[in-house]
Amino acid sequence: MAIQDFMDCHAQLAMTVNNASHYIGRFAPSPTGPLHAGSLVAALASWLDARAHDGQWLVRIEDIDSTRCLSGMDQIILQQLAACGLHSDQPPLYQSRRSALYQQALDRLIASGYAYPCGCSRRDIELALQRGGRSRARHGELIYPGTCRAGLQGKPARAWRFRTQAESLLHWQDRRLGAQSQDVAYEVGDFILKRADGCFAYQLAVVVDDGAQGITDVARGADLADNTARQILLQRALHLPTPRYLHTTLVLGANGEKLSKQNGAQALDTRHPLAALNQAAAVLGLTQQHEPADALAHWVAQWKCLYNHAP
Ligand code: GLU
Repeated sequence: MAIQDFMDCHAQLAMTVNNASHYIGRFAPSPTGPLHAGSLVAALASWLDARAHDGQWLVRIEDIDSTRCLSGMDQIILQQLAACGLHSDQPPLYQSRRSALYQQALDRLIASGYAYPCGCSRRDIELALQRGGRSRARHGELIYPGTCRAGLQGKPARAWRFRTQAESLLHWQDRRLGAQSQDVAYEVGDFILKRADGCFAYQLAVVVDDGAQGITDVARGADLADNTARQILLQRALHLPTPRYLHTTLVLGANGEKLSKQNGAQALDTRHPLAALNQAAAVLGLTQQHEPADALAHWVAQWKCLYNHAP
């Protein structure tokens, strides 16, 4: 952003009433590895958005899938955030301690007909898709053909799925990406709420927690944008409000995919927090800062100009 634009925008903002008296945002890392340049972008974006709205910023540790989480990683992530000056406004919430709430939500979905048990193995799904002459996959996942929608037909229940409504194109606004739409039934299918191993799915846990924590705004990486429609469907089925969404630019790894441990992401070097923050800020379109003491405050002011107005 050019300095003159920034000054103009700042002057304009000073004249407008801040429309954000009630704002609760969150950063929701999965403790599968330390924060890296990519995850810091999401952390910084959500923190800046909360501060730009005079709101609260919460950290939620998404450790529901114990097979993927590393012990002690939550503490490392919290230390990395603290080294960058990002502190949760409330004690962090741990998904691993909230299974009873996810079960209650699932029970409500079952009672209202939105959730149904599924007895299909991956092989059953492959065979059903072949028999039907279609084999549609999405991100490597087979689109469920709906075999158990009408009942288990003697099979034991393995998982629980969300019953999508056919031909229901969902529309929503993303604060950075603009108008979005997805036909969940066609593009995703009846998605999993509780897996065969008893683990609650990310989609259900995240919607229950965003609702329980009163999250008004979600700012996270664009790799997660594709989950939004499923989350809105779940919010509606559970009578929860839909937050505003903002999906940030992604940091790409050497192979052109989202930066991750698998494609060479290094853990943040918290001995040089300003360097790490400057790198994340650049991805978000913010200017470089040289004074650690007021870098975050400068970015909050810039953020207001860049993102505080709906597209
Ligand atoms: N736990 C998810 C992740 O680390 C983020 C979930 C979210 O922000 O909705 O990718």
